[in-house]
Amino acid sequence: MSDRAAARSKQPAPHASSSSNFIRAIVEQDVASGKYAERAWGGKPGPARAHEGSAPDPARIRTRFPPEPNGYLHIGHAKSISLNFGLAREYGGACHLRFDDTNPEKEEQEYVDAIIDAVRWLGFDWGEHLYFASDYFDFMYEAAENLVRAGHAYVDEQSAEEMRASRGTLTEPGRNSPWRDRPAEESLRRLREMRDGRHPDGAMVLRARIDMASPNINMRDPAIYRIRRAAHHRTGEKWCIYPMYTYAHPIEDALERITHSLCTLEFEDQRPFYDWLLERLAQGGLLAQPLPQQIEFARLNLTYVVLSKRKLIQLVEEKHVEGWDDPRMPTLAGARRRGYTAEGFRLFAERIGVAKADSWIDYGVLEDCMREDLNERAPRRIAVLDPVRLVIDNYPDGAQEECHAPNHPQKPELGSRAVPFSKELWIEREDVMEAPPKGYHRLFPGNEVRLRYAYLVKCVRVEKDAKGSIAAVHCTYDPATKSGTTGAGERKVKGNIHWVSARHAFSADVRLYDRLFKHPQPGTGRDFLEDLHSGSKSIVAAQLEPALAGAQPEERFQFERHGYFVCDLRDSRPGKPAFNRAVTLRDSWAKEAR
Ligand code: ATP
Ligand code: MG
Repeated sequence: MSDRAAARSKQPAPHASSSSNFIRAIVEQDVASGKYAERAWGGKPGPARAHEGSAPDPARIRTRFPPEPNGYLHIGHAKSISLNFGLAREYGGACHLRFDDTNPEKEEQEYVDAIIDAVRWLGFDWGEHLYFASDYFDFMYEAAENLVRAGHAYVDEQSAEEMRASRGTLTEPGRNSPWRDRPAEESLRRLREMRDGRHPDGAMVLRARIDMASPNINMRDPAIYRIRRAAHHRTGEKWCIYPMYTYAHPIEDALERITHSLCTLEFEDQRPFYDWLLERLAQGGLLAQPLPQQIEFARLNLTYVVLSKRKLIQLVEEKHVEGWDDPRMPTLAGARRRGYTAEGFRLFAERIGVAKADSWIDYGVLEDCMREDLNERAPRRIAVLDPVRLVIDNYPDGAQEECHAPNHPQKPELGSRAVPFSKELWIEREDVMEAPPKGYHRLFPGNEVRLRYAYLVKCVRVEKDAKGSIAAVHCTYDPATKSGTTGAGERKVKGNIHWVSARHAFSADVRLYDRLFKHPQPGTGRDFLEDLHSGSKSIVAAQLEPALAGAQPEERFQFERHGYFVCDLRDSRPGKPAFNRAVTLRDSWAKEAR
């Protein structure tokens, strides 16, 4: 056994299985070669500067999760979070939570708080490594001056229109700006004027000076600073110029001594600029080697949801859903309220893996992961979602007794609980029919079924209301057939239905959620809102067994025969819980899709 294998066998990885992928392979190689072993590290951002920090970095690798605080985290982010924090955990490293808040306009504290909550809820911990990109604005500005002095950047005073026109196309090179070769001192003076608020928004920009003829458009002198008079959620009015994301991000990584900067594929064409910039700043003595490396992976595309912040914001603002944490939303806050589990998400991340090519994952895969996890942890309870009354004509009036139901059929160690039984019960409307089709084994006049954990009952007749629907079903029971007593199982019946005692049960709202979109790829060839699924939420007044009355917010259960449910975080009151359906017991969509 290798050292690593030995270490792992003592300390199992947090994931269910550690299947390999190309990123793990790169990390393993870098750890083995000691590529990042000699990094200086003083603990807080800034020490990556060449002249600071001396103690070697105790973390063997450093990753980061860098959300922009302009929306709530979604299921796609869970993939990135699990990947970054998971790698750090596995290889003795650290993972930073960094708010990429370089754009002053759309960022808000509400989002910062929600993101912190979601990452913590998923079960990851950044320790002391919580950072804000805006904390590096001073350094970023200093780096910009450094680039100007070294001839790697210039202030361009063309209009936005002129800049666009001279950028070229995929097949034609761009043209140099008339300002490109201006003296460095002149650019520096202008840059300072920009910083000091001497020019209006959009009057000029700072551009990297690379190559207007590059086949990669991202290398055609990209803008790195722009004038923008906007208050920032952390720096307030201090700045009226802000760095562009593509300039800021590599610097953030380098300052934090990130080793592996993982991002989604759309940044692949940005990698040459990422490297160009960091190398120039290292040459200028502002950053120390070894520099971080950017590695791209395929983003998660999941059927039946949208994972674009713009669309999620639209769903919330136009009130197609009841807020960011609506249980139908593909946000982590929504999934949590829906009853999904952090463990289920980690299982999902592990199962879908990490690849270099884009693909679609079926929503059913996520639901299966949730079922697997919930099956393990959720105690069983009884709920009648569409109640109709069952009267046992030969059961004594006023009598009651206890039946015993296991809390988890595969886990006897979880014990059982008493469920009261009496003359009048609630059963599911779909469990009784007056004139059933062939193959129906539940209640109809003359047929006998088992009331699960209780007696065999035989249907005598059904009672109708004025509209002709069944108002009650009358049965007789056989006192010699109580579950768990000797001889109870002698007579075999095909139907086995659940029930609650009408006198002991309580009524509660149960929200049945289904997929928010009815199309697997919402918005393909039309507005995504047209694909909203109108039946994605319904509320039923269910009858629940008494043991559920004390359910605590976020407690999860399997309601027998119905699926997994959670006691709602927001709408439950002490003694008056409301429940959300997380997922049905089986995938009802797979059939329809076929
Ligand atoms: P925006 O459109 O606002 O850029 P974004 O979804 O990329 O939205 P970020 O806050 O920039 O949002 O994302 C934070 C991190 O999560 C980034 O590293 C990003 O690559 C990653 N990420 C975002 N969406 C997905 C996804 N669908 N699958 C995997 N990773 C994702
Ligand atoms: Mg992004």
